[in-house]
Amino acid sequence: MDTPLIDPFARPISYLRVSVTDRCDFRCVYCMSENMTFLPKAELLTLEELDRLCSTFVNMGVRKLRVTGGEPLVRKGIMTFFRAMQRHLETGALDELTLTSNGSQLGRMADELADCGVRRINISLDTLNEEKFARITRWGRLGQVLDGIEAAQNAGMRVKINAVALKGVNEDELFEMVEWCAARDMDLTFIEVMPMGDMGGEDRLDQFWSLKDLRARLAERYTLEDLAERTGGPATYVRLKETGSKIGFITPLTHNFCESCNRVRLTCTGELYMCLGQEDMADLRAPLRASEDPRVLENAIRAAIARKPKGHDFDYSRQSVEGQVSRHMSHTGG
Ligand code: SAM
Ligand code: SF4
Repeated sequence: MDTPLIDPFARPISYLRVSVTDRCDFRCVYCMSENMTFLPKAELLTLEELDRLCSTFVNMGVRKLRVTGGEPLVRKGIMTFFRAMQRHLETGALDELTLTSNGSQLGRMADELADCGVRRINISLDTLNEEKFARITRWGRLGQVLDGIEAAQNAGMRVKINAVALKGVNEDELFEMVEWCAARDMDLTFIEVMPMGDMGGEDRLDQFWSLKDLRARLAERYTLEDLAERTGGPATYVRLKETGSKIGFITPLTHNFCESCNRVRLTCTGELYMCLGQEDMADLRAPLRASEDPRVLENAIRAAIARKPKGHDFDYSRQSVEGQVSRHMSHTGG
């Protein structure tokens, strides 16, 4: 292995999130507009280029790879990429290969993912109500996602559900979702809605449901035991004494995790974002395409990591979205 990647604030970079496509078969209201314009195919890294890039990161000390998007499983030939990453699990260079998915394709793909060494998967599900699900995702069908979740569990993968907390939308389902996940031995993580992309005419502040409030609601019914575990990301966890299940809270708008940040994000066009909340990025596609020499790419990666900022600066506090970044989560990879 090469000298590991350490940023200017002495944080080792061990976690890469890679977006393999900006496309999706859903159009979730908080994520995309209904008529999104997607990138032309020529802009995208090929599967071979994604392999080269991710393998270089693994060689430089990345131990955990999360594949995301857009919807990663709608990218044509994506299993070739998972197969390619499996070899790093086999050599022990990589500890974990995982993905975040909307679940729609899992009915047919879960077995193969498990066969590629995927042991855990995050599946996004904001509601258990069919009609609400259709409203939130615009194009999604709840039944298909529920089948996908079942297929993932049957394939032996540990499933974590991610739900965006939406005021006036899934507020009334809080306890139902908690019990539903607990009954299926799945952890559940709530995500605070983030000011990403253009707001598409919708005022996201209206839907903003603070996880502090959500947590207080939970505490009315359950005994919450704080868990010490941190992942280097914006999540904190509690265990519900009554169900034994784990609940996570992702509050991306807080700064309190930046000091332990161990991650960078790669877009499907080869842009490396060193921080989710900052505009600064490094183009890795140019060095990747310029030379077969791995050192060219490695140097570009080291130069980028040397620019990783200390933290981000989202701020909802003045009832306007300060520090808003203009890209959609489907671009950077949520
Ligand atoms: N398509 C996959 C999925 O939905 O899980 C992976 C990509 S998606 C961008 C990753 C996560 O970002 C999802 O859990 C989604 O709910 C979340 N997300 C998207 N837009 C968001 C926003 N504006 N605020 C908070 N979370 C958001
Ligand atoms: Fe697609 Fe995921 Fe964005 Fe929903 S949140 S539109 S499923 S990328």
